[in-house]
Amino acid sequence: MRESFPSPPTRFPEYRGRFAPSPTGPLHLGSLYTALAGFLQARSRGGAWFLRIDDLDPPRTVPGAADRIQRGLEALGLHWDGSVLYQSQRLAAYAAALDRLREAGWVYACACSRKQLAAHAAGVYPGWCRARIGQPPPAAHALRVRVQGGTLAFDDTLQGRIAQHLETEVGDFILYRRDAVYAYPLATVLDDAAQGITEVLRGIDLMDSTPRQIHLERLLGLPAKTYAHVPVLVDAHTGQKLSKQNLAPAADTAEPGRLLFHLLGLLKQAPPAELAGAAAAEILAWAVENWEVRRLAGIESIAVDARRFQP
Ligand code: GLU
Repeated sequence: MRESFPSPPTRFPEYRGRFAPSPTGPLHLGSLYTALAGFLQARSRGGAWFLRIDDLDPPRTVPGAADRIQRGLEALGLHWDGSVLYQSQRLAAYAAALDRLREAGWVYACACSRKQLAAHAAGVYPGWCRARIGQPPPAAHALRVRVQGGTLAFDDTLQGRIAQHLETEVGDFILYRRDAVYAYPLATVLDDAAQGITEVLRGIDLMDSTPRQIHLERLLGLPAKTYAHVPVLVDAHTGQKLSKQNLAPAADTAEPGRLLFHLLGLLKQAPPAELAGAAAAEILAWAVENWEVRRLAGIESIAVDARRFQP
C-alpha cells in the first residue's frame, strides 16, 4: 500500500514581519503603502504580521494617533496578529540593554553641545567624549555607542547590497538622548527581537539607519534578520516625500476597495482591471495570492497624486 505523505510546504510559516508606525500624525497614503506591502509580504508566505507603535518620543506623540492608525488599518482589512506592542511600555528593556552595553565598555556619556557639533563638518561624530568610557557621567549628557571595524554590509531583499562604513560615515551614535529619550535604533532592534521578527520591511528612507541597527544587533547578540526597503511615495505635484514631517494628510479609507486597488498599482502588482470595483476583502485575497515583492526591486520612489485619496 502506498503511504500518503503530506504535501511539502509551499509556504514559510516561520516568516514574521511587522509594521511600526510612529503615532506622530495621521495614517497617510505613504504609511498605508508600507503597511500593505508588509502585510502582503507576510501573509503571502503564510507568516505572521505584527503591529508596533513607536511612541518613544513623548513630545512628538499625538494623542489619539495610535488609535486612528489602528482604525485605518482595520478599515482596509489589514489585521495584525497578537497584541500591539507599544514602545512606551518597553523602557525597562531598553534600560537593561543599555546597561549591558555600558558594562561591556561600548557606551559612553557625551556632553558635547549642539553648537560644538554643528561646528564640526559632515555630521559624523568625531568621538570627542570617547575618553569618558568607564568614567562617571557629567550632569547633562547623551549616551553614545562606539562603532569600529570595517564596512558593514547587508543584502537588502529589494535594494541589493548596501554598505556603510560606520566609522567614517556615521561615527559613534546616540542611544539615549540628553532629554532622556531612547533612540530609535536601540529600541527597534530590541523590539524586533522581542517580537521574533525575521524580516523588516519598511520605507527606503530608513535604510540609512540599518547598518547602525545591525551593529547593535551584533553587540547585543540578537538574531539576524533580512531587510526589504520599499520605495517611498512622493507627491507628484511637489516632489516631496509623503510623510508626517511634510504634513501629508490622512488617507481617506471610506472606500477601502478603491484605496487598496490604487495602492496595489503603486506597489507594481498590476491588479486586473476587473478587480477595480470589487470589495476590499476580495482585492486583498487576490493580492495575497499574487504578491510579488520583486516587482519593487531597485525602485526608490514612486510619484503619486495624493490628492485623489484625501477626504
Ligand atoms: N517608526 C518608524 C517610522 O514610522 C518606522 C520604524 C521601522 O519600521 O523600523 O518611520
